[in-house]
Amino acid sequence: MLTSIDGKSVIVTGSSKGIGKGIARVFAEKGAKVLIVARNFDQAQATASEINASGGTASAFSADVSSWNDMQRMAEAAAECHGGIDVLCCNAGIFPDAKLSEMTPEQWDEVMGVNLKGTFLGVRSCLPKMKECGEGRIIVTSSITGPITGYPGWCHYGASKSGQLGFLKTAAIELSPHNITINAVMPGNIATEGLDDLGADYLQKMTESIPMKKLGTAEDVAYAALFFASKEAAYITGQALVIDGGQVLPESLMALEDI
Ligand code: NAP
Repeated sequence: MLTSIDGKSVIVTGSSKGIGKGIARVFAEKGAKVLIVARNFDQAQATASEINASGGTASAFSADVSSWNDMQRMAEAAAECHGGIDVLCCNAGIFPDAKLSEMTPEQWDEVMGVNLKGTFLGVRSCLPKMKECGEGRIIVTSSITGPITGYPGWCHYGASKSGQLGFLKTAAIELSPHNITINAVMPGNIATEGLDDLGADYLQKMTESIPMKKLGTAEDVAYAALFFASKEAAYITGQALVIDGGQVLPESLMALEDI
C-alpha cells in the first residue's frame, strides 16, 4: 500500500524545515526524487543533504513562491534534475500576525502573495511538465485556520488558507481531463520551527485545547499528503483532509472537561 511514489519526481515548496521537510523526508523514504524548495538556499541544501545521507534522493533549489519567474525556473529545474514533474506539494506559507485594526495593506498583500498567489503560481508553472507526464498529483497545504476556525491576528492568513480551497475546487475540474488531481491537507497545530516562533504560552494553551492533548508532527501531515499522491488515491480530487488530533471538534471548552 502507498508504494507507488517510488521513482517519482516530487517538488515540495517550503521544505527546508517544518511540515514541508516532513513531507520531503517521507516521500524520499518511499523512493521519490524530491526537489527541496525554499528562499534560503543553504537551509534547502542542508535538508537535501540530510535526505541524501539517509539513502534518499533530493536536490535543493532556491525560489520565492510569490515570484512567477522563480516558479518557472523551479519547474524547469525539477524536470531537468529528476525527469519530469509527477507530484507538486504547494506547502510554502507564512503566518505573521496582525490585528485587523492595525493590519496594513502591505501585510495583507504579503500573506496573500506567498500563501495564495504562491499556490497559483506553483501550480501554473508545473502544469506543462505534468501534462507531458500524462498524469499528476498536486497537494496543497491549507489549514484549519480560515476554512474552519478563526484566530485573532490571522484575518489575512485565514483568508489565504480558505482561498486555497476555493482555488482547488475549480482547478480540480479543469485538471481532471489530464489525469491530474489536486487535493489539500488541512493541518491543525503541528510542531514546527514556524509554530515555535509563536511562543511557549501559545504552544501550551493550544496543546490543552486539542482532544489528543498533543501537537501534531510534520510526519502526521506528510502521510496524508502521501496518500493523496499515491496511485490508490487516483479517483480523489478537489477534496481536503483535516489532520488536527480532533482540535476542531469540541463545541466548547466544556466538551474537553472530564475526558
Ligand atoms: P515553517 O516551519 O515556518 O517553514 C516554512 C517553510 O516555507 C520554510 O522552508 C521556508 O523557507 C519556506 N518559505 C516561506 N516563505 C517562502 C516563500 N515565499 N517562498 C518559498 N519558500 C518559502 O512553516 P510550517 O509551520 O512548516 O508551515 C508550512 C505550511 O503549513 C504553511 O503553508 C502553513 O500555513 C501550513 N500550516 C502550518 C501549521 C502549523 O501548525 N505549523 C498549521 C496549519 C497550516 P525560507 O524562509 O527559506 O523561504
